[in-house]
Amino acid sequence: MAGQDETKPRGAAMKELLRAIPKVDEFLSWVEHIEAPVRFVKGAVREVLAAEREFILSGQPGRLEDLGRQVLLSKFEKRLRNKLTANFRTVINGTGVIVHTNMGRSLLPPEAMANLVKVGSRYSNLEFDLATGKRGSRYALVEELLCELTGAEAGLVVNNNAAAVLLALDTLARGREVIVSRGQLVEIGGSFRIPEVMEKSGAFLREVGATNRTHPRDYEGAINEHTALLLKVHTSNYRIIGFTSEVSLPELVELGGRHNLPVMEDLGSGSLVDLTRFGLEKEPTVPEVIKAGVDVVTFSGDKLLGGPQAGLILGKRDIIARIKQNPLNRALRIDKFTLAGLESILRLYFDEERALSVIPTLAMMGMSVAVIERRAGKLMRRLKKVLAERCGVAAIPVFSRVGGGAMPEQDLPSRAVALRPLLMKVTELERKLREVSLPVIGRIENEAFLLDMRTVADEEIPQLAASLFEAFEVEEK
Ligand SMILES: *Cc1c(COP(=O)(O)O)cnc(C)c1O
Repeated sequence: MAGQDETKPRGAAMKELLRAIPKVDEFLSWVEHIEAPVRFVKGAVREVLAAEREFILSGQPGRLEDLGRQVLLSKFEKRLRNKLTANFRTVINGTGVIVHTNMGRSLLPPEAMANLVKVGSRYSNLEFDLATGKRGSRYALVEELLCELTGAEAGLVVNNNAAAVLLALDTLARGREVIVSRGQLVEIGGSFRIPEVMEKSGAFLREVGATNRTHPRDYEGAINEHTALLLKVHTSNYRIIGFTSEVSLPELVELGGRHNLPVMEDLGSGSLVDLTRFGLEKEPTVPEVIKAGVDVVTFSGDKLLGGPQAGLILGKRDIIARIKQNPLNRALRIDKFTLAGLESILRLYFDEERALSVIPTLAMMGMSVAVIERRAGKLMRRLKKVLAERCGVAAIPVFSRVGGGAMPEQDLPSRAVALRPLLMKVTELERKLREVSLPVIGRIENEAFLLDMRTVADEEIPQLAASLFEAFEVEEK
């Protein structure tokens, strides 16, 4: 309405606007002084011009003033800034989900990061045995530590837990049958599904029991000459409640022993520490699973262990030896950065109290509400004066989640800073906070944008405040 001249025929108005768009060369002459790679500058210019053309051709009312030099230059600058910013960036996690798969799961403590930097910039003994001067194995660097921490006889590490499961099934059951309870055919994050991983490994899935109940006799009845493995999958991201029954690991181990069949458990988010100390439900720890006599157990390095992305495979010596020899292993192998991070994390566990305070995933799980509340207060003091006329700010009780497919039902009491913008919609604030220089991710609940302070580090509070001011377009006082 404010735009197009109603008396002019639409086609004519459109032509006039199209003619007003500057030519690429002209635009480039406006920005030739800018110090940035030519490719990015040209790309940003082309994008701005193409967007203007597209807008006009879409028939929406446009104005000649919107094609002025200053307007176009500011659009150009925004696009250029985007091109010059790294695609892979840090964000502030205000979701309260500690192991957030979309935000990089576990954070590494400084000493693990230092180790990573060291092996990344120098030559190392990655596969060189310093004792013999001969070729060594990269797994040997962490195998003994893993065995000491868990009681396992042997172990190896691969790219992630999905790879660990694939490799174990391929080694132990290719072309043969694996018995799994119907209640444990899990899907993790859409791309990992037990039946599909099974198919890729060349093993045949033999489902037993019902979704809610499986008994030892179900496994027993399914065992035949083609059976290669009894598999238990930890249902870490959902729970079957009500009239339920699952075969316990000791029962499965007993059954496997009687039929001379190996037993494997995909533990998913395997923990080395007892989680009841955080007020969470009892989950079997890795040492407990090993002690129960399982032949192989697999779990992620970056879930409850709190380390880098990795898949840990632990178990009986002969079985691990077979897995190590599988040629598929070469395609799934762990890289040197991960190994460096993982070794640091494992060493921290030898002093459990230290692990609990230094490993961020564990420290965040163990954080008291009082500490989180203090953090919320710190942020609010920074915000209140500056945002007073623009936004309501309050601390409210919320629940954090462990995440990473771990313990879906369980909540950790926490505190969030709730923002209720007065001059824009809360959905607009959510979008703006994703677009600022240091993006902030939170969640919307009851028309408020919530920032759970459990997953925001103390050192991040000034940056978080700065991101909020940027989103509200105010200057810090
Ligand atoms: C998370 C999970 C996986 C996949 O582990 P990644 O490390 O993400 O590959 C497999 N199985 C279970 C039970 C899990 O919880």
